[in-house]
This record gives sequence, structure tokens and C-alpha cells, in this order.
Amino acid sequence: MDWTASARSVEEILQDARDGHRITAADAHRLLLDGDLLELGLVADEIRNRHNDAAAATYNVDRNINYTNVCVYKCRFCAFYRAPGDPEGYLLTHEEIGRKIEETLALNGTGILMQGGVHPDLGIDFYEDLLRYIRTEYPDIHLHAFSPPEVKFIAKKERMSFSEVIGRLKAAGLMSIPGGGAEILSDGVRKEILALPKCSADEWIDINRQAHLHGLRTSATMMYGMGEGLEPRIEHMQRIRDLQDETEGFTAFISWTFQHDNTDMPEVPETYAHEYLKTLAVSRIFIDNIQHFQTSWVTQGKKIGQLALKFGADDMGSIMIEENVVSAAGTSYKMSQEEMERLIAQAGYRPRQRSNLYERFVEREDTAEIAARYRHAITVQNRGLANSSVLPVIG
Ligand code: SF4
Repeated sequence: MDWTASARSVEEILQDARDGHRITAADAHRLLLDGDLLELGLVADEIRNRHNDAAAATYNVDRNINYTNVCVYKCRFCAFYRAPGDPEGYLLTHEEIGRKIEETLALNGTGILMQGGVHPDLGIDFYEDLLRYIRTEYPDIHLHAFSPPEVKFIAKKERMSFSEVIGRLKAAGLMSIPGGGAEILSDGVRKEILALPKCSADEWIDINRQAHLHGLRTSATMMYGMGEGLEPRIEHMQRIRDLQDETEGFTAFISWTFQHDNTDMPEVPETYAHEYLKTLAVSRIFIDNIQHFQTSWVTQGKKIGQLALKFGADDMGSIMIEENVVSAAGTSYKMSQEEMERLIAQAGYRPRQRSNLYERFVEREDTAEIAARYRHAITVQNRGLANSSVLPVIG
């Protein structure tokens, strides 16, 4: 397909978007090339407010649990993985994962995002056992787990279809699937960054399609700024919009910029805030069929994250009780619920904690009883994230 920019003017394209007409991939390319950041932001904000409450911005409280860092792949942008046999490789036990879940619940958390490297020795039994353990021991936690590359590897190892794997994982307790492993859904780029073996663009889309057909919601992600240029980003956005037209299974679009420390691509120049905000705004204008757009304060910092709420985003994502993948590449942030709410309020919005699939708001009283039950699980390093009401009694 041809991904070149349209010959239409930026003004004409933005007027179409304002009038509620869908813009084409070629139009989106033109906006990325020539659009003025503030004008794009104004239109993206209008579209944000068509889909969402203009007065509110949401966030959630969850934790990333990376059950293993052992991975058979060697994506060039990844600073997280360790090759099989590496002494720094780990695989968490059920008990270690349980302790992390208890701490999440103690901090008013409602869910976990669990994904790993692609460990060569783990068959579907491992994943089913882990899901059943969590479902049985912690029935209140939302399980958002196992990104498309993990699903693909299980399917290959067990000689099953994507649909069969997803059906088995769902029966064992899986509740939704994270959008990890998408990076840029354009096979030329995936080949270049060594992400093609773990999942082609078509495979990533098909695994999401199969999940949606099983009634599981998934999220759409995009990581860019690896030297790939604009056309592959446009292709990526088109693929996401097309699948959403077909299934309506994506809850949110979450994009962030490549962080290069400790990766195999240190020479790639950093993507700065202007390009981040512009890409966010254009994606919000182009992808008119996904309700929620997240900021990436974890890669952009709290200040740009706050500003992103005016460039098309309606959600700040997680407070990040734990994050290991972006921090392995040199960027590390977390924040308390109080700080998140202050940050949203200062941007002019009413802060609302939301559930993992955005289907409801979470009030403090909804989580208070469970948080109190597990308050002993709050570790010293996360004491700063606790509300004073749930701080453990010391001594
Ligand atoms: S991005 Fe995922 S699949 Fe690629 S090397 Fe890192 S852990 Fe492995």
C-alpha cells in the first residue's frame, strides 16, 4: 500500500476532522509533516471530548509484573531481556507473584499487567497454572496478561492455533490482553529491529482479533522513534483503526517513544516532547474509533504527561507501582495516587481512578477493605505510594 502524504492542505483536513468526517492515512501523514502543534492539539482535544467527559481525566492503580526476563528473542530496542542460561535470568515463583499482588491490593490497586520475556521452556500448562493460582488466591484482582508474542510462542510450542491458546488461557482466568509487542506494525521496520520473529504485523493483529472474538478486550500500543520515519507509523495506525472497525475490541491506544539506554540502538537520536505531542494528537484525530487514549508519563515525565491531556489523551495510565521494562532502558518514574490526582487536578480536570477495562470509576471505599487486609504487604520501597490510611503499623 502507498503511505505517502495527501496533497490536501492541513486546514482542509482539520476542518474535516472537526466536522466529524474520517481522515485518510494520507491525510494523517500530511498532518504529521506540516501540522502546527497547537492547532493539532485543539482538534485532538475536541475529539477527546467527543468520546469522553471533558471535565475529567482518569488513571488506574495497577502494577506491571514481569514473571520472567528470560527471552528467546533479541529485539534490538529491548534492554530488559536475558538470553536463556544467562545468570541474570529469573522466573518468579507463584509466591513471589502473590506477594506483589498483595502489595498492589494494599495500595488500592485493582489489577496487574503481567507479561514477560518469551521463555523457551514454558508450555501452556505453566500459564494455566499461574492464572488459576492467581484467580483462586486473589479473586478480586483483574488479570491483564500475556502479550501477543507470548501467545504466538505458546501456539507454536504446543502446535495450537492462536484461538485455541486464547480460549485455554481465558478458561484458566485470563481477563484481557495487553498490547505489548506491537512497536511498529510494519514488517520492514520489524525486520530491522529484530522484532519480526516474535510476531509479524499480521500475526499481532490476528492475535488481537482472536482475543476480541473470544470476548477479551485488548489494548493497542505503538512504540516509535527507532529511526523508522513517518510512513510505518501511518501504516501502524491504519492497521489498528481497521481492526477496531472490525471488532471494537480495543479499549485504548497507548503510544510512547523508544528509550535507548542499555539497548542495541544507542545511536538512535532521542524523540523529544514536540514530536511526542504531535504524534499523540494526530493519532487521536486519525483513530476515531477507540474511546481512550493514554498519556505516556512513564517515558515523557510527569510534566509532559500532564500536558498530553490537552493533546488528545483522556487517561494517565497507571501510577506504576512497579515497572521493569522502560526502567531497564534508563527511564524510571512512579507516583502515588495523591500525586497523580494533584497532577490531573492542576491540569484542570477532575481526577477519577478507573477500573482496568475503563468500565467504571473506582471509589476509595471500593478498595478500602481489601487494602486494609493486605497492608502488611507494603514494602519499604513503596511506602511512599501508600495513603496514610493504609500505612502499615511499624513496631
Ligand atoms: S521486547 Fe519482549 S520479545 Fe523482544 S527481546 Fe524484549 S522481552 Fe524478548
